[in-house]
Amino acid sequence: MIQLANRLDCTGCSACANICGHNAIAMVADEEGFLQPQIDKEQCVECGLCAKSCPIVSSKSEIPSDKEKQTAYALISYEDRTVSSSGGAFSVFAKWILRQGGIVYGATIDDQLQVYHVGIDKLEDLGKLRGSKYIQSKIGNTYREAKDWLRKGRKVLYTGTPCQIAGLYGFLNGKKYEGSLYTLDLVCHGVPSQKGFDAYLDKIKKNCPGTGNIEAFRFRKFDSWDYRPAIKFTESKWKILKYADNAYMNAFFEGLTFRESCFRCNYCNTDRVGTFTIADFWGIGKHGHKFKRNVACGVSLVIDNYGIMPQLVENLNQYAYIEKRWMDEAVAEQTNLKHPMPRNEMRDNTVKDMIDPTISLKDFSKKYGLPYQNTIKSVLKEGVKTLIYNLGLYNLYKTLSYKFS
Ligand SMILES: Cc1cc2nc3c(=O)[nH]c(=O)nc-3n(C[C@H](O)[C@H](O)[C@H](O)COP(=O)(O)OP(=O)(O)OC[C@H]3O[C@@H](n4cnc5c(N)ncnc54)[C@H](O)[C@@H]3O)c2cc1C
Ligand code: SF4
Ligand code: SF4
Ligand code: SF4
Repeated sequence: MIQLANRLDCTGCSACANICGHNAIAMVADEEGFLQPQIDKEQCVECGLCAKSCPIVSSKSEIPSDKEKQTAYALISYEDRTVSSSGGAFSVFAKWILRQGGIVYGATIDDQLQVYHVGIDKLEDLGKLRGSKYIQSKIGNTYREAKDWLRKGRKVLYTGTPCQIAGLYGFLNGKKYEGSLYTLDLVCHGVPSQKGFDAYLDKIKKNCPGTGNIEAFRFRKFDSWDYRPAIKFTESKWKILKYADNAYMNAFFEGLTFRESCFRCNYCNTDRVGTFTIADFWGIGKHGHKFKRNVACGVSLVIDNYGIMPQLVENLNQYAYIEKRWMDEAVAEQTNLKHPMPRNEMRDNTVKDMIDPTISLKDFSKKYGLPYQNTIKSVLKEGVKTLIYNLGLYNLYKTLSYKFS
């Protein structure tokens, strides 16, 4: 009997499904919408490869970072900062690989607002992968595809949550493909399911009758360190979500809708799996080391896990300002480099309630102690922010609020 990770520990990384040459494993959504491996006993020949590739049941696939060499950098992209979630680190690495004829893998969101991993080989497709999508991305067959490219001698940049990067290395049986394969793992708070997100969008639609379908959704505004999602209906322009409608991200920050494995995550620490770790550089300049650049539009944290940045920096410098920093500064405000999100017992029902069409967003928020009313204070705050934005003073405002927070 083949033993894969149990339901609470399984991250859904899909290494097992990718490795099975008999296609005996399907990744099937459970009642909360999280993908779980399902073995077809008729197809399975009990070769054991799936268990061997699983980062949870076979720790051999892990490649721990070199603590002696691990170094933190601040990165600000010259061109991509205003279209990225933080400083644009992803785009900088991606451009470097694409210009060498390589393939870049990452999470995209399509017209149906479904999130999954894809590979791109053209600079003009970079926009498909930019931006954080706070949903678990489906891996599909991308580990197999990436391996095929590596075998053909192409460079590959594979990006994702640390459990996905661990899944890739598990699938590759720990082979590093040095000089050809580069991986970026995100500092990761946790992931909700696609089903939860779909149900949330249905509830938003109910709150906004007459505006048509939801055509697009951005989890973060791109031109600043800001977490307000924006939404585009067929019949309206882009608009920032109102405080009371933001239940999805409010629940995300409280860790109320995460996959169960996220509360027991092996990767919420400085033992990293990727070649580099990327994140927002929260608190840069505030922990005993000055940072002289403007932080208003976001700064990326890049952790070089194997000490290879000095070899690459000359190439990356053409795309970004890169400054060596300190690991203690990198960790200071990054909870998810210290420990996983603690599980709140309310999590027993939150995902079910988000999915339940009879529970409105307001009732959901009320039940779980999330903001549910557009208070006078929140409306005023939004109004002032929009005014400052329209006067072109938003970056100045962000700089000052960062400095004095
Ligand atoms: C679920 C999730 C949780 C996160 N938690 C934290 C956190 O706790 N602290 C922190 O500092 N940063 C966190 N981040 C990372 C942060 O939001 C930015 O994505 C990161 O700093 C990269 O920004 P960027 O400016 O370099 O590039 P961007 O262009 O903004 O980011 C694009 C990159 O993110 C990847 N990506 C986007 N969505 C997903 C997804 N659903 N699954 C896998 N990969 C995805 C893309 O493949 C691409 O590599 C999280 C990101 C995600 C997706
Ligand atoms: S044991 Fe082998 S054949 Fe069976 S599911 Fe796992 S990889 Fe596939
Ligand atoms: S390989 Fe990944 S998806 Fe498969 S059982 Fe292990 S953790 Fe789950
Ligand atoms: S918190 Fe851990 S288990 Fe959850 S998605 Fe992130 S890396 Fe994977």
